[in-house]
Amino acid sequence: MKAAVFHKPGQIQVDNVDDPGLIDPTDVILKVTSTAICGSDLHILSGAVPQAGNMIMGHEFMGIVEEVGKGVKKLKKGDRVVVPFPLSCGHCFFCNHGASPHCEQSNYKNYGPNGNLTDQKGGALFGYTDLYGGYSGGQAEYVRVPYADISPRIVPDKLSDDQALFLTDIFPTGWSAIDWAQLKGGETVAIFGSGPVGLMAQKAAWVNGAGRVIAIDPLEYRLKKARDVNHVTTLNPHDVEVVEAIRGMTEGRGADVCVDAVGFEPERTMMDKLKATINFEKGSMKVLDMAFRTVRRGGTVSIVGVYGSTYDNFPLHRVFDKAITIKQGQAPVINYIDKLITLVEENKVVLDDIISHTLPLSEASKGYEIFDKKEDDCVKVVLKP
Ligand code: NAD
Ligand code: ZN
Repeated sequence: MKAAVFHKPGQIQVDNVDDPGLIDPTDVILKVTSTAICGSDLHILSGAVPQAGNMIMGHEFMGIVEEVGKGVKKLKKGDRVVVPFPLSCGHCFFCNHGASPHCEQSNYKNYGPNGNLTDQKGGALFGYTDLYGGYSGGQAEYVRVPYADISPRIVPDKLSDDQALFLTDIFPTGWSAIDWAQLKGGETVAIFGSGPVGLMAQKAAWVNGAGRVIAIDPLEYRLKKARDVNHVTTLNPHDVEVVEAIRGMTEGRGADVCVDAVGFEPERTMMDKLKATINFEKGSMKVLDMAFRTVRRGGTVSIVGVYGSTYDNFPLHRVFDKAITIKQGQAPVINYIDKLITLVEENKVVLDDIISHTLPLSEASKGYEIFDKKEDDCVKVVLKP
């Protein structure tokens, strides 16, 4: 079959590889119909999240059940399913505590340097390096889905692939960022990063009753997308001092909730160029620093952007003084997905309006290139095997 394969940093290409087969009785094999490239995949492409050998990419995918393991009870051949990006065994300590991204069973390979299990034990994602279990991803014609009775959800017939695909990851991720802040209604929510995850957090903020949603991004075309599809207020740090601007909108207090939908910033030429043009005088452009300065006293900073290394000069004094609540992590997709499928089905939220590029799987490398470099007004790339 064809698959988008990571070879080394900077090199993801479409190769012919062996078809996956059933391994455990609780597996299914899915024939992938749609799969997307995620900002998280760019951390692998850049080498910031390391992977030693070749690996099939992709944790955002859906498709048709092709083969069913003997132990699978809920799915049958021909079912059309969407698959949450964290694997979940459904019965370990963490799965029982609503923390499926920390599933102990699905990542037994996560050993430390001395061969001992580290305190990082647990947590497996499709197509997300040996650190996260070493599972092949779904940017491929077929993919093996373990624990098939636990996470995959049957997609209602009336939903197209494009309407359903982002239930794998980015909508539940944007949703969790807002859910962690427990809005009561009328809040000002400032969302840093207006990429796919930020756009989904904007949608989630409105559905959860925000009074004002502010999108911040240095890329003007992404702010335009945010205005067009989500009707939010936008701020470009090239034009305004963001922290001051948001204080000005909130009687000096700051936003009730700040979402970091950017994450750590690898040395990407494109972003470096952008940042070099930003006025640093009034503070750092580092997104977390901006979020801690922007949030009001007693407010919440939700971090869904991925961090994979230490963060120097962490402003603990500000977090303490302002009594900020910080929530972060990989989104526990299965906690939200059933409710979110219903929201999409009932047309309470539209997800496919962020897709800017649909390409055949054979053009995956081009998809990575434009999404990474933010070329051709790229917002979200969907691949069709
Ligand atoms: P993306 O790269 O397309 O978007 C990031 C956006 O942030 C870009 O538009 C960029 O211009 C903007 N940006 C960069 N620096 C900024 C700054 N200082 N202030 C404001 N905006 C800034 O990626 P994406 O697909 O939207 O993903 C965003 C992050 O979310 C990534 O780190 C990704 O790994 C992470 N993610 C996390 C989860 C989770 O479960 N927690 C799931 C999916 C993605
Ligand atoms: Zn993703």
